[in-house]
Amino acid sequence: MAVTVGLVAQIIERIAPKSWAEDWDNVGLLVGSGAAPVERILITLDGTLKVVEEAKAYGAQLIIAHHPIIFRPLKNLRADNAAAQVPLRLLQHSIGYYAAHTNLDQSIVSSSRALGELLELQEMKFLEEPEYDLIPIHKRAEARGYGVSGYLPHPEKLGVLWTGFLDRLGQSDVYAQPYPLSGVRLAGPLEKEVRKVAIVNGSGGRFVPKALFKGADLLITGDVDHHAVLDALEGDMAVGDLGHFLSEAPMLQTMYQYLSAEKALQGIEFKVSSINQPPWLL
Ligand SMILES: [Zn+2]
Repeated sequence: MAVTVGLVAQIIERIAPKSWAEDWDNVGLLVGSGAAPVERILITLDGTLKVVEEAKAYGAQLIIAHHPIIFRPLKNLRADNAAAQVPLRLLQHSIGYYAAHTNLDQSIVSSSRALGELLELQEMKFLEEPEYDLIPIHKRAEARGYGVSGYLPHPEKLGVLWTGFLDRLGQSDVYAQPYPLSGVRLAGPLEKEVRKVAIVNGSGGRFVPKALFKGADLLITGDVDHHAVLDALEGDMAVGDLGHFLSEAPMLQTMYQYLSAEKALQGIEFKVSSINQPPWLL
């Protein structure tokens, strides 16, 4: 029996139910038909026009993305409306678009968790989900939450930890392909001793108070603004900003691994976008 877009959606929603998404979010199948057959799938963070062309060249019938393409209500489908171009092009090429966003952020395949595993964090817990705080992640199939926190195997000085972490990021298979580690920033005293680390993929500035409350010495995230960094430093917490893309790209690899291991999807070909890259040059 042919695999359909709807079946792929069901398999993703097993680990990231749509009901977990925030009210302001827009997740699930945004373009296309659940009944459409699928043979090739392109996985990406962002659905840009170039990524749509990549999907077409690859022969994909479906794009699985992290970021939704239709976010604010679309008021027209005019050729001069930039926000309408990606959905229009997808329709022209008969390619479906499925987004798993804030629901995926809270799932077991989040980038926060993949980065926590790369750092070998001990006693890893969700950063924000108070009712689940005392229960280890692996003991709850339904457990969910934003971000993770945990302890380094050994305390390390901030500067040494950060350069070592970036080295590991560059060499590990946390990313499906090597990316330039550009646009990365660090705030805090290099000699500061770090034991507890909080990680929130994507724009994690709003989690500064929570990470402080949990006693983190370092928050690793993306897209932190000036005032959030100042608040963190006031509370004696360092901040490592990987940028939005590099903090979230690990989920491309975990999604790829999750879907390729699924028996019902045997025979389907997957590819992580190589066009979708960190936007920063330096
Ligand atoms: Zn994001």
